[in-house]
Amino acid sequence: MNIHEYQAKAILKEFGAPVSRGVAVLKVEQAEAAAKELGGPLWVVKSQIHAGGRGKGKFKEASAGDKGGVRLAKSIDEVKENVKQMLGATLVTVQTGPAGKQVNRLYIEEGADIEKEFYLSALVDRATSRVSFVVSTEGGMDIEDVAHHTPEKIKTFSVDPATGVMPHHGRTVAQALNLTGDLAKQAGKLVDILYKAFVAKDMSMLEINPLIVTKQGDLRVLDAKVSFDSNALYRHPDVFALRDETEEDAKEIEASKHDLSYVALDGDIGCMVNGAGLAMATMDIIKLYGMEPANFLDVGGGATTEKVTAAFKIITADPNVKGILVNIFGGIMRCDVIAEGVIAAVKEVGLKVPLVVRLEGTNVDLGKKIISESGLNVISADDLDDAAQKIVKAVKEV
Ligand code: ADP
Ligand code: MG
Repeated sequence: MNIHEYQAKAILKEFGAPVSRGVAVLKVEQAEAAAKELGGPLWVVKSQIHAGGRGKGKFKEASAGDKGGVRLAKSIDEVKENVKQMLGATLVTVQTGPAGKQVNRLYIEEGADIEKEFYLSALVDRATSRVSFVVSTEGGMDIEDVAHHTPEKIKTFSVDPATGVMPHHGRTVAQALNLTGDLAKQAGKLVDILYKAFVAKDMSMLEINPLIVTKQGDLRVLDAKVSFDSNALYRHPDVFALRDETEEDAKEIEASKHDLSYVALDGDIGCMVNGAGLAMATMDIIKLYGMEPANFLDVGGGATTEKVTAAFKIITADPNVKGILVNIFGGIMRCDVIAEGVIAAVKEVGLKVPLVVRLEGTNVDLGKKIISESGLNVISADDLDDAAQKIVKAVKEV
């Protein structure tokens, strides 16, 4: 689960991290009071969406101006003007995709005097089973580009969970960022704070880009992006309460209600598969035959007719879907249950695109019989290869 920048900063502040003062606003009328509370003389109005690259982003509406999604303001009137322009407008960044995201919240923050911008992040490293830090002097930029072109400018290290952050970790960060004296001390303290916050809140990723040195000689967290391990959210009702469903894909929210593992993608072929590995293989083979999957969907091992129906509805509700491939291996799952679920769903929501069903495993004959006797226009396939070719062909012929 992801949260907004201002929420992430509030959490980091609880743990003692240096963040700027700021006020979140949802309505234009709140802008003036927020700006007055902060006092100035410099303010920054920041779009709150679950995507990065806001500073260099562009609003779709001409009325929102062309100054990007993060704006400096030198007076209260300027703050108000920017809030008016940005609230409700759609921001497109490198991370939102071409459709962009509507900005429903803004964060008004005190402006910082920036001396230097660094990059600092923490994530769960599966290879070492530890929390790893990534540090670079090249903050504010696309870290992927830095990693690609100048990998020597990125320093990584992991923290042993038995000891937590040690003084040498602080020295590593200070050295990587060329910090000495008091700033080096601040860096050590910050790494300790971030690690504690990361572990205590079950984060899966914490990215500070930029971490800055101010002209006054202090380290400060200027941007913060945090993701949490969804499997641990039950331990953190306070974090769960920060969820902003308007930032999530409506189809993914619906899927999570039915306990389906669903990820929306950009392609044309909707997939309904049981088992994550088989779902990945199905997506691969669709690509092999020249088309793209519209989603990842794992209905799980013990799916019921109701669950299959829900899954089918989510796929057909996606206007991008031009064909559907159901690929089920009946192990724990019985093929006849799948067949009944598919038929129930087709009868309920109708079928406007070609549907290929490939069943294999427990009760496969019964499953196929149910489908062929249903009178519905379903194309039957014998194996994965056959199924992928048939759905691609059917979609191209429409
Ligand atoms: P994003 O990464 O989505 O573009 P950031 O929060 O990193 O958004 O902001 C982009 C840039 O705006 C930063 O690199 C920094 O230069 C500037 N900026 C952000 N917040 C402030 C602030 N409070 N004071 C001064 N400049 C800021
Ligand atoms: Mg940033």
